[in-house]
This record gives sequence, structure tokens and C-alpha cells, in this order.
Amino acid sequence: MPKGANLPAIAAFNETVVLDAVRRSEGGLSRVELASVTGLSAQTVTNVTRRLLGQGLIREAGKQSEGSPGKPRTLLRLDPAGAYAVGVHLDPTVITCVLLDLEGEVVEHVRQPAPPDGDAKATLAVVVDAIRAVLATPGADPSRVIGVGVAAPGPIDAETGVVVRPPLVPGWNDFHLRDELTAATGLPSLVAKDVISAAVAERWRDPTGASKDYAFIYYGTGAGIGLVLGGEVYTGSTDNAGDAGHVLVEPGGALCACGRRGCWGESVRPQRLVLQGLWAGVLPAPDGEQVADGVDLDLDVDTVDALFTRLTEAADAGDERAAAIIDRSIRNTAFYLSNLTALLDLDRVVFGGPSWSRVEHRYLDQLPERLAEIDMGILTHPVLLEGSAVGDDVAAVGAACLVLNETFSPRVGRG
Ligand SMILES: [Zn+2]
Repeated sequence: MPKGANLPAIAAFNETVVLDAVRRSEGGLSRVELASVTGLSAQTVTNVTRRLLGQGLIREAGKQSEGSPGKPRTLLRLDPAGAYAVGVHLDPTVITCVLLDLEGEVVEHVRQPAPPDGDAKATLAVVVDAIRAVLATPGADPSRVIGVGVAAPGPIDAETGVVVRPPLVPGWNDFHLRDELTAATGLPSLVAKDVISAAVAERWRDPTGASKDYAFIYYGTGAGIGLVLGGEVYTGSTDNAGDAGHVLVEPGGALCACGRRGCWGESVRPQRLVLQGLWAGVLPAPDGEQVADGVDLDLDVDTVDALFTRLTEAADAGDERAAAIIDRSIRNTAFYLSNLTALLDLDRVVFGGPSWSRVEHRYLDQLPERLAEIDMGILTHPVLLEGSAVGDDVAAVGAACLVLNETFSPRVGRG
């Protein structure tokens, strides 16, 4: 987990151990099972569960089914209404805000366009409005909201909650996002990198999944990679792991912001594919724009989004030029993934993010074959490729999961 996020502890260590065990169980655990799973004594489990029941964080949920020896035991489960966390995703184009209950289910979500000029103060105002909107969800007790997590484009300084220098939104340079948010909402806040948040959401959704080593490919305005290694979300030395965009995949390809050509991130991002569609004549020129082959256009985010949808629909409808543009991005991604999965010995790659669903079936249809073509003689096992079950809001959901993790996961040193 990101190291700089220090939310106040509201549960003692043994309570977090029990909560964690209950969360990871399917269908709840009895007190006897809890003692066995956690290594705590029966008396300690009794005391801890009494406190957690009193706090409304767990509930008694029926008896263990017939067939187990002895008298039926009462099962304990999380009480979803026991605590809530807010998650915000600051994308350069759209602000997403979700309210998660203690079980990690989304109970409300709000989506707003980001202010077009990327101004930090204006963006903050939209974020605060969105947070107020989800806090007003009927049935969710606002006094049980424990904090706000924000997924932001990197690099970020997780210690101070500052967005340092996001490449696509210069207005946020060195913005003290965490402190400003806490001042505006009165809620403890944390800031994490967007691709790391997305990987957290995927991991939270599937805590006991078969794969312990996988990559989450985040596909939004740009593309990035979150890693789960050894069952833990990998955050790196400064909580900024996942800047994957500048690996060369296409010599002589599109000019990247880094000054070189053919970087993976540039070669797959929707704006680049839209430009290629305009140059090829597959897409109509936007109002007031002169399209000249090979000349970049400064398109606003809504235009890019609408044209990207049009491009993917044209490809699906059989337009060969549109298909060739998307399919080249798939080949570039396959080239990258073949290296990444071999380097880290991954057995699964999960895709998600707001631009993903429009290309999902095409990617999942073609990637296995493209990967198989790049036989480097080192892959010894198949790599499972799939779309995330968390949906388009994955980064916002992950930011809220981070708040729940920070508050309720057992950490050494907690009193
Ligand atoms: Zn680059």
C-alpha cells in the first residue's frame, strides 16, 4: 500500500486483524473460525467481536450450515453500512466520485466534466461538489464516512498529498490537493497515483484470486500500468510506480511528449488514434479544423472522446482503415506485454479504465494471437487476458478502497 497515506486509526490492531479476516472470508466466519484464522485466543476474539458489533462494523448473519460438528455457530460478516469511504478520480477530462460501503460496494457515483482549462482551484470546486453529492446518498450515515481517497495522474508526492507535475494538466503543478480537500470537506484525505488506485480496486475485488502476479493496464486519456506482485499492489520507492508509457514499441512511430518517437503510451492513447483516423479520412474533420496529413491538431477532450467512439464503431462495422488503426495499437500493446509478462513472470493481465470498453472485444479477440506471434522462447505458461470486473470507475473505486485499507487493514505499530 502507498506509504505516505496516514489516515487516523479508528480501530485497534486486533480489531483490524479480525475485520480483515471477516472481509476475506466468503459468507462470514464464526468466532471459533476467527480464532483459528487469526491466531488470536478465543477470549480475545470474543472481546474484539463484541467491540466491533458495538461499533456497527460487523453483524451477526445467521448460523453455520448443518453438517459441521457441535452446535451451530453464529456467523459474523461485515456490516456494509458500518463505514463508508469516498473515492475521487481526477482524470484530465472527467471527474468521477464514488461512495463505497465497508464491503467495497459502490452505493453512489457522480461524474462531472473537468474544467476545460485544467485550473486547479476550479477543479477542486467541482471535486468538492461531487463529494457533497455522494455524501447526501439516502441511507448512508455521513458520520460514518471515514475519509476521501483521490486517484490523480502522477507524479504525486504521497507523503504530502501534492500533485507534482501531471503531464496532461499543467494547471495542477505542485497543487496541495490533500490539504485543500481536507480543509474543504473536513474529511481526512489521501492522494494516490491513478494506475496504482486502479490496481488496488482490482485486488480488493478479488482478494483471494488465483493470480498473485499480474498487471492492470489502465486505458483512459493516457495508458499506464498498475502491478500486483506477490499478491500486493506494487507502489515503488516513491509511490509512483506504473509510468509505463515511454517504452519503444514502434520505431519511427508517433512523436511523444518526451521528444522521441514510437513510445507505447503515445501509440495507443485515444487522441493519437483519433488523429490517425482524421488523417486517413475515416473520421470527419471537427468544426473549424483543417486536417493535414501528419499534422497534429489541438482537439478538446469532448471532441476526442466522441471521435474515438466513432472510430471504434467504424472498425466494428467493418471499415478496414479504422480497423487497421485500432489493430496496430493492439500489436504495439502485444509487443509491450510480451516483454512485461516475461520480465515479471506474470500469469494474468487485466484491462480497464474509461476508454477500455470501446476496444475491449477487439483487444481480447486479437491479443492472444498477437502475443503468440512474438515468441521469444521464454514464456513457459499461458497468460490470462481479461477485462476488469470493476468497470469504468475503477480508479475512483480504488482510491476509496485505499481509504478502507488504510483505516482497517492490520498494520504493525498500530496501537
Ligand atoms: Zn515517450
